[in-house]
Amino acid sequence: MEISDVWQKLNEQLRELLSKHTYQTYFSTLKPHSLSNNILYIKTDNAFLKDWLTEHYKEIVDDCLLKTFSKEISANFICENTSTTITTIEPETPQYVKTNKKFFSVYTFENFIIGESNQFAYASCKSVASKPAKTYNPLLIYAGSGLGKTHLLQAIANKILETNKDAKVIYLTSERFINEYIDSLAKHKIKAFQYKYRNAEVLLIDDIHFLAGKTRSQEEFFHTFNTLYESKCQIVMTSDRPPRDIKELEERLRTRLEWGLIADIQPPSLETRIAILKSKLKNLNVKIPDSVLEFISQNVYSNIRELESALLKIIAASNLTNKEINLENSKNILKDLIKTENSSQSTISIDNIKQRVSKYFNISVNDLLCKKRSKNLVLPRHIAMYLSRKLTPYSLPELGQAFGGKDHVTILHAHKKILSLIDKDIKLRQDIHNLEQSLK
Ligand code: ADP
Ligand code: MG
Repeated sequence: MEISDVWQKLNEQLRELLSKHTYQTYFSTLKPHSLSNNILYIKTDNAFLKDWLTEHYKEIVDDCLLKTFSKEISANFICENTSTTITTIEPETPQYVKTNKKFFSVYTFENFIIGESNQFAYASCKSVASKPAKTYNPLLIYAGSGLGKTHLLQAIANKILETNKDAKVIYLTSERFINEYIDSLAKHKIKAFQYKYRNAEVLLIDDIHFLAGKTRSQEEFFHTFNTLYESKCQIVMTSDRPPRDIKELEERLRTRLEWGLIADIQPPSLETRIAILKSKLKNLNVKIPDSVLEFISQNVYSNIRELESALLKIIAASNLTNKEINLENSKNILKDLIKTENSSQSTISIDNIKQRVSKYFNISVNDLLCKKRSKNLVLPRHIAMYLSRKLTPYSLPELGQAFGGKDHVTILHAHKKILSLIDKDIKLRQDIHNLEQSLK
């Protein structure tokens, strides 16, 4: 089979399947690189785009290839100036077989922008990567979707392998763990399965919350966990919520998850969001005015994946129309995206927050707004301000206004104060979490 043939047919399929816009955005600049061992290597010269495509479109492309050629050809996006490798272990064999699998090479600590909202999680991961199993074990990072969990987890893998390329690092999602487990049961290869995981030096398990309700997989994971922990293997896990909020999780497993250090990532501040966009642009080699970056950051605040996707949309549209990017056309391009982002948040109002917080602490709404400095009022007040900044789209001056005409520094101070306490004070963390749940 000629590569040009494969490429042409694939593109025909993709054009049919994807919207014109999506096709143009992500596929029109790609080039076929080579075809070997039934793998079609597709080249881009942008590392960021490579990872983006792998994450979002690989399945679709594989599907098209399968349909067109009824033979298992799979796609592999490559970018020639980067290649970090990760050691993985073949699932079938009871021995270690090292394979150099392409990994998300841009998911490094260096590419991770640090802000108040993620510095604790970042520092914990960094520390674990520099001294596996010597500092925090296990380490659990929790955060909502798109806030950098996978990025940090893979940064740990990349870092460890950079120092020791033979380290036995395993990265996988808990979903994949479950699938492999079920598969090994069906094929009577449970020993090989156990051997593989129980001999790792570093086990990185992403999205642990998927284990909820899967009793047998939880049990297997529990034993894996114990064996690894006893043999001083570093375990790092991520979850979309703290262990205590994962329903249908066996108590003994929950206890294990809470054994070590737990760090969370909050949605990043405006400044951090702008910094993230700027750092993504460095890899992209296009010029976008600061006003546009600010506009995106002001409007997309709860998910960094969405933030990136907004940026890519704008770049793509400008490539397509050959127009320079400015604030005007950016607003137009992002119309839809911004509408949904705001409507998902719009149910939480500042009034709502004030009421919940005052009720929770058994004080009056007025106590939140007044100037009295007694301790039992100051903390709830700070919490209400913190939550309002986090959960509503209002600016600092607007928030100050809503809290009895205070200036924006007061809000900023309250927000910082809570953020610094939250890392140390478990009770406070719990309170804030409860309040957030009740608001959502
Ligand atoms: P999660 O696993 O929490 O859903 P990801 O780790 O997949 O989120 O992050 C989504 C995207 O946002 C990724 O492309 C990641 O590189 C990017 N990202 C998240 N946090 C940061 C950060 N602090 N600095 C730079 N990029 C980030
Ligand atoms: Mg993830």
